[in-house]
Amino acid sequence: MSRLDAIRGSSLPVAHNARAIAALAANPACDRRAVLDGAGIDKSTIVEHLGFPARFGQSPFAITRTREFKAIVKADEGAHVLRLLRELLDLPVKEAEYHDVGHASGQEARHRHTMDVLGAAAPETATLVDHPLVKLGVAGYEVYLEPDVIAFQADHRLHVVAIKSFPIIDGQADPGKVSAAAREAAVYVHAMRELFGLDPERVSHDVILICPKDFMNFPTACLVDVRLQLEALKRQLARLARIDTILDRLPPDLSLDLRLAGETPTRPAAELGAALSAIPARYAPECLAACEMAYFCRDEARACGSLEALGRSVRDDLGGIESLDMAIELMGGENVPTEHAAIAERLGFVRRILDEAVA
Ligand code: SF4
Repeated sequence: MSRLDAIRGSSLPVAHNARAIAALAANPACDRRAVLDGAGIDKSTIVEHLGFPARFGQSPFAITRTREFKAIVKADEGAHVLRLLRELLDLPVKEAEYHDVGHASGQEARHRHTMDVLGAAAPETATLVDHPLVKLGVAGYEVYLEPDVIAFQADHRLHVVAIKSFPIIDGQADPGKVSAAAREAAVYVHAMRELFGLDPERVSHDVILICPKDFMNFPTACLVDVRLQLEALKRQLARLARIDTILDRLPPDLSLDLRLAGETPTRPAAELGAALSAIPARYAPECLAACEMAYFCRDEARACGSLEALGRSVRDDLGGIESLDMAIELMGGENVPTEHAAIAERLGFVRRILDEAVA
C-alpha cells in the first residue's frame, strides 16, 4: 500500500475532474491540498464531518442554465461553433465534419473513439468533436476529462472550446469567471498535449470561450490565451508527482481515515481535525472560491492569528511579519526592531488615519 493510500485509509479514492484539477493551480503552494488531492481524498465529506461544509459550486439554477446554453451552441451539429470559429480564426471553410462520440459505451471506449476521430481527421478538414473524453495522469491516477468540444481546424491545429453560461456584455465578461474558465480549459489543453505527444503548437494555447451575448442566449465567442494557466498547472502537477518530498515532512503515522461505517464517518471530528492540521496549509481568501476545505482552513488560520487569512496582498505588504499580533504590536510603535522599522512606520500611519476617522 502506498503512503497516500495509507493516509486516505478505508475510503475509495475520488476521481478528479477538470474543475478540481484547475483549482489545484489556484493555490499551488498549499501542502494540505496537494496531499488530499494526491491521495484522492473526498474533501467534501471530510469538511462536512468536521462541521465546515463546503459552500461553493454551481447552483442548480446555474447548472440548468449552462446545460440549456450548451444545447443551443451545439444544436445542428455545432452550427454556432462553426460560425464562431470562422469569425475568430478566419477559418476558410463553410462546413465541418461533426462527430459526436458521446454514444460510445463506457469511458475507455469514449476515450478511444475520441482519439480515433482526432487521429483520422484529415489536415485540410475542419472537424468538430462533441462529447470528447481525454485522459490525464494526476499523482499516479488516470483521470478522464470531458472538454465541451474539441475543434480541429483547417490548418491542422486543435482548439479546445469552452462553453460557459455567464454573459459577455459589451465585449466584457466577469474577470473572475473568465479566469476560472481559463484555468479549467488549460487542463484540457495540457491533457491533449500530453496525449498526443505533439508539438505544443499542434494544440493551441488559445481556447475558444463561448458565452451568451449581452443578456440574450445568442452565442458569442472570444479567444482566451491560457499560457499562464498552463505554466501554473504544470508546476502543480509536477509538485504532485514529487509529493514524496511533502510526505517526508509529515508525521509517519498520519492518517485521514474517516473510519466509515457504510457511508457514515465514525472517527471523532477532533481527532480528524488534529490530523489535518499536521499538514501545513496556506489559506488565502481565494480558497473560498476554489477549495472545499476553505472554511476549515480559514477557521484554523484565524485561530492562530495568521496574516494569510487577510489575503495575499496584505501578506505581501507586510512581508516578514509573522502574525496579526505582531502587526498590532508594531502598530503601537514601541520597541520596534530595526528590520521592521519601515513596516511599523506604515502601520502607524494607517493607525493615525483610523483614529482620526473614528474620532
Ligand atoms: S482551503 Fe485549505 S487546503 Fe484548500 S487550498 Fe486553501 S489552504 Fe489549502
